[in-house]
Amino acid sequence: MSAPARCAAAHQDDPVPCEGPHDAVRVVDQHGAEVGACVHHGARLYASLIAPRVYPGSVDGAAIEVYQRARALPPFPWTEGR
Ligand SMILES: [Zn+2]
Repeated sequence: MSAPARCAAAHQDDPVPCEGPHDAVRVVDQHGAEVGACVHHGARLYASLIAPRVYPGSVDGAAIEVYQRARALPPFPWTEGR
């Protein structure tokens, strides 16, 4: 495996690279499981979870960015077009 390391929120079927720091935000699912995420994968994960929450990580304003991006995404957006 030579794939570049990605943030913990990157879905294995989502081929795109991370955008910014891997701990820009923290996304928490309905069970309270927390995962660090970049802005890109955080938004995609947020859009795919039931009752998710997003908290600031290492980047100021990133949680709001993730929330606003996720509102424009369908669940599991990386499966679009298949
Ligand atoms: Zn990422």
